[in-house]
Amino acid sequence: MSRFTSHMTLALDEARAAAARGEVPVGAVLVDPAGHVAARAGNRTRELSDPTAHAEILVLRAACAAAGSERLPGHALYVTLEPCPMCAAAIGFARIARLVYGAADPKSGGVAHGPRVFAHPQAHHAPEVVDGIAAADCEALLRDFFAARR
Ligand SMILES: [Zn+2]
Repeated sequence: MSRFTSHMTLALDEARAAAARGEVPVGAVLVDPAGHVAARAGNRTRELSDPTAHAEILVLRAACAAAGSERLPGHALYVTLEPCPMCAAAIGFARIARLVYGAADPKSGGVAHGPRVFAHPQAHHAPEVVDGIAAADCEALLRDFFAARR
């Protein structure tokens, strides 16, 4: 589990940086098959005026561009919050091998909740899913962010 936790610590750093920019604090890290960080990002929807600029989409775009490929087989994606349906679909399209996330998102999640994208018959590729990694830290960050905005 320590391997999962160390990458999630980087994702939490990105989530905190997103909060400091006034973005919903979600961070993601993409790790290549050799275990190296290929991309890291936090949400930038407000900064970019782009509703698709979720942390997961940003790391997929960056790593795909760097790899010159629309697919990233063997890669692992770490994200502090359960991906939404849009991001879950993109993770499938990119053929990500493993998805590791922290906090569950009963309201907007698309993996364990809502459309359960990877369990859907239309899903052509489903990554291995590991949930609940550093969940308490991931949840606290979101809770503090929204409490401060009330
Ligand atoms: Zn998303």
